[in-house]
Parts: sequence; C-alpha cells; structure tokens
Amino acid sequence: MRTTQPKILIIEDDPQIRKFLMITLTSHDYAAISAETGNEGIRLASSVKPDAILLDLGLPDIDGTEVIRTIREWSKVPLIVLSVRTQEEEKIKAFDLGANDYVTKPFGTNELLARIRVSLRDTILAQVENTEIIIGDLKIDLLKHQVQFRGERIKLSPKEFNLLKILAMNAGKLLTHNYLMQQVWGKAYGDDNQYLRIYIAQLRQKLEKDPARDQFIINEPGIGYRLEIGENT
Ligand code: CA
Repeated sequence: MRTTQPKILIIEDDPQIRKFLMITLTSHDYAAISAETGNEGIRLASSVKPDAILLDLGLPDIDGTEVIRTIREWSKVPLIVLSVRTQEEEKIKAFDLGANDYVTKPFGTNELLARIRVSLRDTILAQVENTEIIIGDLKIDLLKHQVQFRGERIKLSPKEFNLLKILAMNAGKLLTHNYLMQQVWGKAYGDDNQYLRIYIAQLRQKLEKDPARDQFIINEPGIGYRLEIGENT
C-alpha cells in the first residue's frame, strides 16, 4: 500500500453498504478503513487521522450528529454524510455542526467518488495565507477587502464580500442557510433567507460571467450553498 493514498474512514453500521464502500474505495486507489459504531469511528478518526470521513447518520450506539460534534472539537477533516431522504432535519443539523457534504442513499459510485474528490481537493486548494485566500483563480485580500477573479478585479459591496469570504474559507463545504445568515447578518435576522438569496444572486452575477459554463456557487435546495472552484476555472 502506497503511503500517498488518501485515507478514507467509513463509519457505517450496515454491513452491505460498508462492504460496497470498502471495495469501491480500495479499487479507486484510496486506503479505506471502517468502523461499525460511532464511538469506534471517533476512536479511529483520532488514531488513524484519515483524509476524509464517510459517515452514516443512523448508528447503533450514538447519533451520527454526535460523531460530527465530537470530531469537530479537534479536527477539520472533510466529513461526508451518508443520509437517507427521511433524515432532512438531521442532515441540516449535521451541516450546522460542520459536515462538509452529503450523498443520499442509494448513491452511485461516480457521485460518491466525485464528492470525495471535491472534499479532498478544496481542502488543499483553499489556502488561507495570512491576509489572502486563494482558490484556483480566485484571490481574496482580507486586509484590503479586494477580490480578484481570473486576473480581473471584482467590485463587491461589504455584505457581498463577507458572504464570498465565508464561502471561500469553507470552499467545497456545504454551508447551511442558517450558518451563512448568522455569519453575515448576525442572529437578528432569524430564519428569513430572503437576504441570502438576493446576495447569492448578486455574487453569481459578478462571478459567473458565462452562466452556461460557470457555476461556482452551488445551491443545495433546502439546505444551503457551497463554493466549488476548480483548478482551471
Ligand atoms: Ca445506519
């Protein structure tokens, strides 16, 4: 086994899904390890230090959201939730606690591998260097409040800037409406996502010059938004 293989930890109690994931990942050059319970998963997450974690929310011992809460106390490892359609509320809770992404069961191999690639890549791409965030062709100067995209200066209002900054600092990670609202507007605005929708639309207009080709701000209906910028955008 090469040491350069990204290590993926699977936390899933269903033996068939676990087996499917182990086979899929190892055949695609990942080093896969698995846990059947939440507590075992937490233990392995701290001892093995995986590059990404696939987490089932319905576990026999503790709730999957508890696993996220615990791991997030000491690790920023990308966490991809394996959810079922009836778990909408738990899924949103998972993101508020710091999950990066999700796939809905039953998921296809390609979809799963794509989500893992994005999680691993954006963790590497999103370099926060002192006062600058650089992701692909996007540069955000945190000191001067300036944004450059593809070498071109993008003029943003202070709220648009803050929104883009939060998305960029968490590139590849799905951020809930609730989280974004609190980060940009503060708690006072509560559950009214109207502002968020308007500002996301404005950011899109300024960044996504060619809507047919460009799609950087990904909308996950009912949950939130994710910034996804490739290496050659
Ligand atoms: Ca389960």
